[in-house]
Amino acid sequence: MTGPTPPTLASIRRAPKVLLHDHLDGGLRPATVLELAADCGYDELPADNEADLEAWFRESADSGSLERYLETFAHTVAVMQTPEGLRRVARECVLDLAADSVVYAEVRFAPEQHLERGLSLDEVVEHTLAGFREGEAEAAAAGQPIVVVCLLTAMRHAARSREIAELTVRWRDRGVGGFDIAGAEAGYPPTRHLDAFEYMRASNAHFTIHAGEAFGLPSIHEALAYCGCDRLGHGVRIIDDIRVPGGEIADAELGRLASYVRDKRIPLELCPSSNVQTGAVPSLDKHPFDLLARLRFRVTVNTDNRLMSDTSMSKEMFELSRTFGYGWSDLERFTINAMKSAFVPFPERLRIIDDIIKPGYAVLIG
Ligand SMILES: [Zn+2]
Repeated sequence: MTGPTPPTLASIRRAPKVLLHDHLDGGLRPATVLELAADCGYDELPADNEADLEAWFRESADSGSLERYLETFAHTVAVMQTPEGLRRVARECVLDLAADSVVYAEVRFAPEQHLERGLSLDEVVEHTLAGFREGEAEAAAAGQPIVVVCLLTAMRHAARSREIAELTVRWRDRGVGGFDIAGAEAGYPPTRHLDAFEYMRASNAHFTIHAGEAFGLPSIHEALAYCGCDRLGHGVRIIDDIRVPGGEIADAELGRLASYVRDKRIPLELCPSSNVQTGAVPSLDKHPFDLLARLRFRVTVNTDNRLMSDTSMSKEMFELSRTFGYGWSDLERFTINAMKSAFVPFPERLRIIDDIIKPGYAVLIG
């Protein structure tokens, strides 16, 4: 729990970080939203200047309702309907993550939401990947190398999941690493999309599922038992299957589902700020992150939506560190957990762990 110098926000900003759960349409720069809206003639933004717009996103996201939180995406998605819009947002996403010393990121978005101006699903992916590659090249040239892999999301209330799964497999050797389903959980169980998951498994392809965020254990159980996901997007409600009588970790009692998740080393893509904002947990100090970490679940730290939550990987790690007293070795463990769980081939995961993460933290741990 201790390192020689406690992590500060500034020092965490320099530490190598890995991000598995970040939404492309949740991470735009406010200035970019304004400029792209002007370029494409979108006139429904709730504010006409950067400061007000930034505050509006934050306040809407703070409402405590997942449904209202999801409404903020109408505006970001609206300005990502053209080749230029997609490319710019993807490029800036990479640059912003690299500037925060994120060395590996999986960034997801739902191509089916970007067809309003006539692009095809394949064109949407093509332009987005072009933006990612541009961002990577610029970041490397600036001395901040980063690897960014794209995950394609299908919306759980819609009926295009099989198509998006096929799109994922079609692009998997060109920068797409996996598949996901997202959107309001209640009423839309993951088993509605079984054919998409079966297709992914039959194709030896990776996928994660948003589960156990607003909705509890049944959603997590379905995602694992019937859909067969590799990781859980959030999965925070697994806490409902854990009892800690008297508050002693040693006495923790895990139900069968929680035991399964821990035994199988199922990665939990935890997004602390987002979970508080959507009301999945009441406050950061009551977030089960720490209990899950102490119980040795494979916890990872994620941003979810950097714009809506006004956050970054460094801020998430710093707030966790401040709230739960984590030192550098803890932050290194969470980072390695994430890299071990990434949807890139094993040798690439090892390379980043051995050549970048471990040396980076060794300097900080001292
Ligand atoms: Zn998410």
